[in-house]
Amino acid sequence: MESVFATERLKELLPKVKAFVEEELIPLEKEHTTRPFKQTEKILAEKREKVKALGLWNLHLPKAEGGQGLTLCEFGQVSEILSLAPYYGQYTFNCQAPDIGNTELISRFASEKIKEQFLHPLLEGKIRSCFSMTEPEFAGSNPTRLATTAVREGDEYVINGHKWFTSSADGAAFAVVMAVTNPEAKPHERASMIIVPTDNPGFRFVRNIPIFGETGEGWASHAEINYVNCRVPVTNLIGQEGMGFRLAQERLGPGRIHHCMRWIGIAEKAFDLMCQRAATRELEEGVMLGEKQFIQGFIAESRVEIDAARLLVLRTAYNIDQVGAKAVRDQVSGIKFYVANMVLKVLDRSIQVHGGMGLTDETMLANLYQHERGARIWDGADEVHKQSMALNILKSYGLDIRKKR
Ligand SMILES: Cc1cc2nc3c(=O)[nH]c(=O)nc-3n(C[C@H](O)[C@H](O)[C@H](O)COP(=O)(O)OP(=O)(O)OC[C@H]3O[C@@H](n4cnc5c(N)ncnc54)[C@H](O)[C@@H]3O)c2cc1C
Repeated sequence: MESVFATERLKELLPKVKAFVEEELIPLEKEHTTRPFKQTEKILAEKREKVKALGLWNLHLPKAEGGQGLTLCEFGQVSEILSLAPYYGQYTFNCQAPDIGNTELISRFASEKIKEQFLHPLLEGKIRSCFSMTEPEFAGSNPTRLATTAVREGDEYVINGHKWFTSSADGAAFAVVMAVTNPEAKPHERASMIIVPTDNPGFRFVRNIPIFGETGEGWASHAEINYVNCRVPVTNLIGQEGMGFRLAQERLGPGRIHHCMRWIGIAEKAFDLMCQRAATRELEEGVMLGEKQFIQGFIAESRVEIDAARLLVLRTAYNIDQVGAKAVRDQVSGIKFYVANMVLKVLDRSIQVHGGMGLTDETMLANLYQHERGARIWDGADEVHKQSMALNILKSYGLDIRKKR
């Protein structure tokens, strides 16, 4: 059934995107876990050229920047389709995290010089980028306690610090680094975002961190990095000094819609596999797995949870389009934890229905679960979003807990 949120231009666009994903990407993903990464990169470079030729490149961008000028609500629906190829979809269409967030940030807040140097090659797909905020020594859930500093010396910032979980740093051309520039300011006005090219001698790549025993490469990696007397021109600052947290929020609002829609696409995939297995796995002679009520419960609950999640996300995207992310930040928090839990629940049920096979690489389920488990942690852990939402709700009832602290 057609989405109530599908606009006229989406009705034209979505079938094209879906056809490309189904014909060009989904068959490729079957060998994702066994094909060497470099080979995958080469194959996808060709697919990216095809996407450009079809006029489907950078769909998320305004028309002035070569995109289609889709609203967030429209792009969310594209993102869901791309996630039917969860490993390659977003990357092939040049709208993968963290590049998509960095693109929006630089496009809206950086100087023309910075745009020329970093944004344009990013939009053309010639380079990749990363976002470097989290530090091992301090709780990422409270980023006002960052230890990385950027001290101004003449026309340069000198950056020193230790970061980890800088996703996609391996092979990236630059990092957007969050560092303290104004230590005496109020906690939320201390940090700034500064662009650091990764060929800078002060940018010291330490390693890609193994996650659940798997060490990713390229855009599918999470790096530990040291910044050692790393000197960059002050013109590499994004926005103003002390604006880091504000920019982080600007970056995260739409970013959470992208992620949530990606999870919905993944949940649909897991759901489809679950139903196929339930309908075809013979339990006893002539009795299929799907005839058991436990399994029917998995199916019915998953269907409703995916649909509810989609409606919640599209409502939030629609509202961001109308009034901006800040005005609906509780809705953004709500979808972040609700959809992250939903996709893991559906993946888990689908694994369960597949039995032992669900834990192997015979299906994508185990690998997807492993990849997406972080959803409940990054971009704000569940507990942080729930707390923030509850504090705002209680404030509207007259209990201002933040003020009491
Ligand atoms: C796969 C992955 C990719 C990532 N990519 C990036 C990236 O590209 N760039 C980047 O800068 N960072 C990235 N991160 C880091 C991520 O943003 C942090 O892990 C996250 O902010 C949590 O910080 P922390 O790990 O220091 O956990 P902590 O802040 O130490 O929190 C640990 C746990 O404490 C609990 N908790 C925290 N606050 C509260 C509270 N107020 N009330 C109750 N419980 C609470 C939560 O359960 C939380 O999971 C990534 C992380 C992962 C797992």
